[in-house]
Amino acid sequence: MRPCLLFALLLLALPDRGSADDHHDRSPSDIFKLAPLAGGVYALYGRGGNVGFFVGPDAVFVVDSQFEDIAPGILDQIRKVTDRPVKYLVNTHHHVDHVGGNPVFRPFSLIIAHDNVRKRMLASPQEILRDFPAKLEKAHQSGDAAGEKFYASQIEWAKKIKVEEIAAPFLTFDSEFRLYLGGETIQVWHTPPAHTDGDSVVYFEKARVLHGGDLIWNHVIPFIDVEGGGSARGYALALDKVMQRVPADIQVIPGHGQVTDREGLKAFRRYIGDLLDLAAKAKASGVGREDFLQRADLPAYKDYAGYGERFKDNCAAAYDEAPAHP
Ligand SMILES: [Zn+2]
Repeated sequence: MRPCLLFALLLLALPDRGSADDHHDRSPSDIFKLAPLAGGVYALYGRGGNVGFFVGPDAVFVVDSQFEDIAPGILDQIRKVTDRPVKYLVNTHHHVDHVGGNPVFRPFSLIIAHDNVRKRMLASPQEILRDFPAKLEKAHQSGDAAGEKFYASQIEWAKKIKVEEIAAPFLTFDSEFRLYLGGETIQVWHTPPAHTDGDSVVYFEKARVLHGGDLIWNHVIPFIDVEGGGSARGYALALDKVMQRVPADIQVIPGHGQVTDREGLKAFRRYIGDLLDLAAKAKASGVGREDFLQRADLPAYKDYAGYGERFKDNCAAAYDEAPAHP
Protein backbone atom coordinates (compact mmCIF):
# COMPACT_ATOMS: atom_id res chain seq x y z
CA MET A 1 0.00 0.00 0.00
CA ARG A 2 1.21 3.49 -0.77
CA PRO A 3 1.36 5.98 2.07
CA CYS A 4 -1.32 7.91 0.18
CA LEU A 5 -3.77 5.11 0.73
CA LEU A 6 -2.45 4.84 4.22
CA PHE A 7 -3.16 8.52 4.74
CA ALA A 8 -6.80 8.05 4.00
CA LEU A 9 -6.98 4.89 6.06
CA LEU A 10 -5.31 6.63 8.96
CA LEU A 11 -7.89 9.34 8.87
CA LEU A 12 -10.53 6.66 8.95
CA ALA A 13 -8.91 4.70 11.73
CA LEU A 14 -7.50 7.57 13.72
CA PRO A 15 -9.96 10.44 13.51
CA ASP A 16 -7.93 12.70 15.76
CA ARG A 17 -5.27 12.87 13.08
CA GLY A 18 -7.62 14.32 10.51
CA SER A 19 -9.61 17.48 10.50
CA ALA A 20 -13.38 17.47 10.75
CA ASP A 21 -13.68 19.15 7.36
CA ASP A 22 -12.06 16.17 5.71
CA HIS A 23 -15.25 14.27 6.55
CA HIS A 24 -13.37 11.11 7.44
CA ASP A 25 -14.53 11.00 11.00
CA ARG A 26 -18.28 11.35 10.88
CA SER A 27 -20.52 8.81 12.51
CA PRO A 28 -22.82 6.69 10.30
CA SER A 29 -25.94 8.52 11.49
CA ASP A 30 -24.94 12.00 10.29
CA ILE A 31 -22.71 11.39 7.35
CA PHE A 32 -24.86 12.15 4.35
CA LYS A 33 -25.92 15.45 2.87
CA LEU A 34 -27.37 15.48 -0.61
CA ALA A 35 -27.04 18.63 -2.75
CA PRO A 36 -28.91 18.80 -6.09
CA LEU A 37 -26.88 20.68 -8.71
CA ALA A 38 -27.77 21.51 -12.32
CA GLY A 39 -28.98 19.07 -14.98
CA GLY A 40 -29.66 15.97 -12.90
CA VAL A 41 -26.24 15.97 -11.18
CA TYR A 42 -26.04 15.64 -7.41
CA ALA A 43 -23.23 16.13 -4.91
CA LEU A 44 -23.31 13.75 -1.97
CA TYR A 45 -21.24 14.58 1.08
CA GLY A 46 -20.42 11.65 3.29
CA ARG A 47 -17.28 10.32 4.91
CA GLY A 48 -14.22 10.56 2.67
CA GLY A 49 -14.05 11.99 -0.83
CA ASN A 50 -17.21 13.68 -2.04
CA VAL A 51 -19.47 11.55 -4.22
CA GLY A 52 -21.19 12.88 -7.32
CA PHE A 53 -23.89 11.22 -9.36
CA PHE A 54 -25.92 11.86 -12.48
CA VAL A 55 -29.40 10.48 -13.09
CA GLY A 56 -29.85 9.63 -16.77
CA PRO A 57 -33.01 8.38 -18.46
CA ASP A 58 -32.01 4.72 -18.09
CA ALA A 59 -29.14 4.61 -15.65
CA VAL A 60 -27.28 6.33 -12.85
CA PHE A 61 -23.61 7.29 -13.21
CA VAL A 62 -21.65 7.64 -9.95
CA VAL A 63 -18.30 9.27 -9.21
CA ASP A 64 -16.37 7.68 -6.32
CA SER A 65 -17.56 5.21 -3.70
CA GLN A 66 -16.06 6.38 -0.36
CA PHE A 67 -15.74 3.50 2.13
CA GLU A 68 -17.17 0.00 2.05
CA ASP A 69 -19.12 0.35 5.31
CA ILE A 70 -21.04 3.39 4.09
CA ALA A 71 -21.44 2.48 0.42
CA PRO A 72 -24.88 0.91 1.09
CA GLY A 73 -25.86 4.31 2.52
CA ILE A 74 -24.67 5.99 -0.69
CA LEU A 75 -27.01 3.71 -2.63
CA ASP A 76 -29.85 4.58 -0.22
CA GLN A 77 -29.26 8.26 -0.92
CA ILE A 78 -29.40 7.61 -4.68
CA ARG A 79 -32.62 5.63 -4.18
CA LYS A 80 -34.19 8.70 -2.58
CA VAL A 81 -33.85 10.37 -5.99
CA THR A 82 -34.38 7.53 -8.47
CA ASP A 83 -34.84 3.77 -8.76
CA ARG A 84 -32.93 3.57 -12.06
CA PRO A 85 -30.05 1.09 -12.07
CA VAL A 86 -26.62 2.27 -10.96
CA LYS A 87 -24.79 1.10 -14.04
CA TYR A 88 -21.56 3.12 -13.94
CA LEU A 89 -18.99 4.02 -11.29
CA VAL A 90 -15.88 6.09 -12.02
CA ASN A 91 -13.05 6.21 -9.47
CA THR A 92 -11.18 9.53 -9.66
CA HIS A 93 -8.04 7.88 -8.15
CA HIS A 94 -7.01 4.92 -6.01
CA HIS A 95 -7.27 6.26 -2.44
CA VAL A 96 -9.46 4.20 -0.17
CA ASP A 97 -11.81 7.08 0.66
CA HIS A 98 -12.73 7.13 -3.06
CA VAL A 99 -12.65 3.42 -3.97
CA GLY A 100 -13.45 1.69 -0.65
CA GLY A 101 -17.10 1.17 -1.58
CA ASN A 102 -16.30 -0.54 -4.88
CA PRO A 103 -17.14 -4.06 -3.60
CA VAL A 104 -20.70 -2.90 -2.96
CA PHE A 105 -21.07 -1.50 -6.49
CA ARG A 106 -19.27 -4.32 -8.31
CA PRO A 107 -22.25 -6.69 -8.71
CA PHE A 108 -24.19 -4.17 -10.82
CA SER A 109 -21.86 -1.32 -11.89
CA LEU A 110 -19.22 -1.08 -14.57
CA ILE A 111 -16.26 0.29 -12.59
CA ILE A 112 -14.05 2.59 -14.65
CA ALA A 113 -10.79 4.43 -13.89
CA HIS A 114 -7.40 5.38 -15.26
CA ASP A 115 -4.95 2.48 -15.79
CA ASN A 116 -2.85 3.48 -12.77
CA VAL A 117 -5.80 3.25 -10.39
CA ARG A 118 -6.17 -0.45 -11.13
CA LYS A 119 -2.42 -1.04 -10.95
CA ARG A 120 -2.07 0.66 -7.59
CA MET A 121 -5.10 -1.08 -6.08
CA LEU A 122 -3.85 -4.51 -7.15
CA ALA A 123 -0.39 -3.82 -5.73
CA SER A 124 -1.62 -2.76 -2.28
CA PRO A 125 -1.55 -6.15 -0.44
CA GLN A 126 2.13 -6.73 -1.29
CA GLU A 127 2.98 -3.23 -0.13
CA ILE A 128 1.17 -3.70 3.17
CA LEU A 129 2.97 -6.98 3.80
CA ARG A 130 6.28 -5.30 2.97
CA ASP A 131 5.86 -2.04 4.92
CA PHE A 132 3.38 -2.52 7.73
CA PRO A 133 5.07 -5.02 10.08
CA ALA A 134 7.70 -2.37 10.91
CA LYS A 135 5.00 0.25 11.39
CA LEU A 136 3.05 -2.11 13.63
CA GLU A 137 6.12 -2.66 15.78
CA LYS A 138 6.74 1.08 16.02
CA ALA A 139 3.12 1.74 17.03
CA HIS A 140 3.38 -1.01 19.65
CA GLN A 141 6.55 0.46 21.10
CA SER A 142 5.20 3.99 21.25
CA GLY A 143 1.94 2.89 22.91
CA ASP A 144 -0.16 3.98 19.93
CA ALA A 145 -3.03 1.54 20.45
CA ALA A 146 -5.17 2.86 17.58
CA GLY A 147 -2.24 2.67 15.17
CA GLU A 148 -1.43 -0.84 16.33
CA LYS A 149 -4.98 -1.98 15.77
CA PHE A 150 -5.06 -0.37 12.34
CA TYR A 151 -1.78 -1.87 11.11
CA ALA A 152 -2.68 -5.30 12.49
CA SER A 153 -6.04 -5.28 10.73
CA GLN A 154 -4.47 -4.20 7.46
CA ILE A 155 -1.85 -6.95 7.65
CA GLU A 156 -4.62 -9.48 8.32
CA TRP A 157 -6.54 -8.19 5.31
CA ALA A 158 -3.46 -8.32 3.07
CA LYS A 159 -2.71 -11.91 4.09
CA LYS A 160 -6.21 -13.08 3.28
CA ILE A 161 -7.12 -11.12 0.18
CA LYS A 162 -6.58 -12.65 -3.24
CA VAL A 163 -5.68 -10.18 -5.97
CA GLU A 164 -8.71 -11.20 -8.01
CA GLU A 165 -10.96 -10.36 -5.06
CA ILE A 166 -9.88 -6.70 -4.98
CA ALA A 167 -12.71 -4.59 -6.36
CA ALA A 168 -10.49 -2.66 -8.74
CA PRO A 169 -11.84 -0.90 -11.83
CA PHE A 170 -12.34 -3.46 -14.60
CA LEU A 171 -12.55 -1.01 -17.47
CA THR A 172 -9.54 1.29 -17.65
CA PHE A 173 -8.39 4.05 -19.98
CA ASP A 174 -5.22 6.04 -20.53
CA SER A 175 -6.25 9.56 -21.52
CA GLU A 176 -9.97 10.31 -21.76
CA PHE A 177 -13.37 9.04 -22.84
CA ARG A 178 -16.95 10.19 -23.31
CA LEU A 179 -20.12 8.45 -22.20
CA TYR A 180 -23.46 9.48 -23.69
CA LEU A 181 -26.44 9.06 -21.38
CA GLY A 182 -29.67 10.50 -22.71
CA GLY A 183 -28.97 14.13 -23.55
CA GLU A 184 -25.90 14.34 -21.36
CA THR A 185 -22.31 13.87 -22.45
CA ILE A 186 -20.06 12.83 -19.61
CA GLN A 187 -16.39 13.50 -20.28
CA VAL A 188 -13.73 11.82 -18.14
CA TRP A 189 -10.22 13.25 -18.46
CA HIS A 190 -7.02 11.90 -17.01
CA THR A 191 -4.90 14.88 -15.92
CA PRO A 192 -1.14 15.30 -15.56
CA PRO A 193 0.02 13.72 -12.26
CA ALA A 194 -1.07 15.99 -9.41
CA HIS A 195 -2.72 14.31 -6.42
CA THR A 196 -1.61 10.88 -7.73
CA ASP A 197 -0.58 9.54 -11.13
CA GLY A 198 -4.05 8.16 -11.74
CA ASP A 199 -6.13 11.32 -11.36
CA SER A 200 -9.25 11.90 -13.43
CA VAL A 201 -11.88 14.59 -13.43
CA VAL A 202 -15.45 14.11 -14.64
CA TYR A 203 -17.17 16.84 -16.63
CA PHE A 204 -20.94 16.76 -17.18
CA GLU A 205 -21.07 18.84 -20.32
CA LYS A 206 -24.75 19.79 -20.51
CA ALA A 207 -25.18 20.27 -16.77
CA ARG A 208 -21.94 22.28 -16.65
CA VAL A 209 -20.79 20.46 -13.53
CA LEU A 210 -17.26 19.24 -12.87
CA HIS A 211 -16.34 16.56 -10.33
CA GLY A 212 -12.67 17.28 -9.67
CA GLY A 213 -11.77 14.32 -7.47
CA ASP A 214 -8.76 15.18 -5.31
CA LEU A 215 -7.31 17.44 -7.97
CA ILE A 216 -9.56 20.06 -6.39
CA TRP A 217 -9.90 20.89 -2.69
CA ASN A 218 -12.11 23.73 -1.52
CA HIS A 219 -10.78 25.59 1.51
CA VAL A 220 -8.90 22.45 2.49
CA ILE A 221 -5.12 21.98 2.25
CA PRO A 222 -4.54 19.17 -0.25
CA PHE A 223 -2.61 15.97 0.17
CA ILE A 224 0.07 15.66 -2.51
CA ASP A 225 0.73 11.94 -2.74
CA VAL A 226 4.29 11.95 -4.01
CA GLU A 227 4.72 8.21 -3.44
CA GLY A 228 1.50 7.65 -5.33
CA GLY A 229 2.95 9.48 -8.32
CA GLY A 230 1.61 12.93 -7.37
CA SER A 231 3.40 16.25 -7.90
CA ALA A 232 3.12 19.80 -6.57
CA ARG A 233 4.06 21.28 -9.94
CA GLY A 234 1.76 18.80 -11.60
CA TYR A 235 -1.12 20.27 -9.58
CA ALA A 236 -0.53 23.65 -11.26
CA LEU A 237 -0.30 22.09 -14.70
CA ALA A 238 -3.37 19.90 -14.26
CA LEU A 239 -5.50 22.70 -12.79
CA ASP A 240 -4.55 25.02 -15.66
CA LYS A 241 -5.51 22.39 -18.22
CA VAL A 242 -8.85 21.69 -16.57
CA MET A 243 -9.66 25.38 -16.13
CA GLN A 244 -9.05 25.95 -19.84
CA ARG A 245 -11.58 23.27 -20.73
CA VAL A 246 -14.54 24.23 -18.55
CA PRO A 247 -16.93 27.18 -18.96
CA ALA A 248 -17.00 30.23 -16.71
CA ASP A 249 -20.31 29.26 -15.08
CA ILE A 250 -19.13 25.82 -13.97
CA GLN A 251 -20.28 24.21 -10.71
CA VAL A 252 -17.49 22.22 -9.09
CA ILE A 253 -17.69 19.23 -6.77
CA PRO A 254 -14.26 19.12 -5.12
CA GLY A 255 -12.76 15.92 -3.69
CA HIS A 256 -12.90 17.54 -0.25
CA GLY A 257 -14.77 20.62 0.94
CA GLN A 258 -18.02 22.18 -0.20
CA VAL A 259 -19.32 22.49 -3.76
CA THR A 260 -17.81 25.57 -5.37
CA ASP A 261 -17.48 27.39 -8.71
CA ARG A 262 -14.81 28.92 -10.92
CA GLU A 263 -13.82 31.29 -8.11
CA GLY A 264 -13.17 28.27 -5.90
CA LEU A 265 -11.03 26.73 -8.64
CA LYS A 266 -9.07 29.94 -8.95
CA ALA A 267 -8.59 30.19 -5.18
CA PHE A 268 -7.21 26.67 -5.03
CA ARG A 269 -4.93 27.33 -8.02
CA ARG A 270 -3.71 30.45 -6.20
CA TYR A 271 -2.79 28.35 -3.19
CA ILE A 272 -0.78 25.97 -5.36
CA GLY A 273 0.96 28.92 -7.06
CA ASP A 274 1.83 30.53 -3.72
CA LEU A 275 3.15 27.21 -2.42
CA LEU A 276 5.37 26.69 -5.48
CA ASP A 277 6.66 30.28 -5.32
CA LEU A 278 7.48 30.03 -1.64
CA ALA A 279 9.50 26.84 -2.14
CA ALA A 280 11.20 28.00 -5.36
CA LYS A 281 12.32 31.30 -3.83
CA ALA A 282 13.72 29.60 -0.74
CA LYS A 283 15.60 27.00 -2.76
CA ALA A 284 16.92 29.56 -5.25
CA SER A 285 18.27 31.69 -2.41
CA GLY A 286 20.10 28.75 -0.91
CA VAL A 287 17.83 27.97 2.05
CA GLY A 288 18.28 24.31 2.99
CA ARG A 289 15.36 21.90 3.01
CA GLU A 290 15.09 21.50 6.77
CA ASP A 291 15.39 25.24 7.40
CA PHE A 292 12.73 25.87 4.82
CA LEU A 293 10.34 23.33 6.25
CA GLN A 294 10.79 24.71 9.74
CA ARG A 295 10.05 28.28 8.74
CA ALA A 296 7.63 27.89 5.82
CA ASP A 297 4.33 29.61 6.33
CA LEU A 298 1.48 30.92 4.18
CA PRO A 299 -0.68 32.92 6.60
CA ALA A 300 -3.38 33.55 4.00
CA TYR A 301 -4.31 29.86 4.08
CA LYS A 302 -4.14 29.22 7.80
CA ASP A 303 -7.90 28.94 8.08
CA TYR A 304 -7.96 26.12 5.51
CA ALA A 305 -8.79 22.75 7.04
CA GLY A 306 -5.74 20.51 7.32
CA TYR A 307 -3.18 23.34 7.42
CA GLY A 308 -1.59 21.91 10.56
CA GLU A 309 -1.52 18.37 9.20
CA ARG A 310 -0.52 18.78 5.57
CA PHE A 311 0.96 22.20 4.80
CA LYS A 312 4.53 21.18 5.65
CA ASP A 313 4.22 18.05 3.51
CA ASN A 314 3.02 20.23 0.63
CA CYS A 315 6.10 22.42 1.19
CA ALA A 316 8.39 19.40 1.10
CA ALA A 317 6.94 18.28 -2.22
CA ALA A 318 7.22 21.77 -3.70
CA TYR A 319 10.79 22.22 -2.45
CA ASP A 320 11.94 18.88 -3.82
CA GLU A 321 10.50 19.73 -7.24
CA ALA A 322 11.84 23.30 -7.38
CA PRO A 323 14.88 23.91 -9.62
CA ALA A 324 18.18 23.29 -7.84
CA HIS A 325 20.05 26.18 -6.24
CA PRO A 326 22.48 27.48 -8.89
ZN1 LIG B 1 -7.03 11.16 -2.47
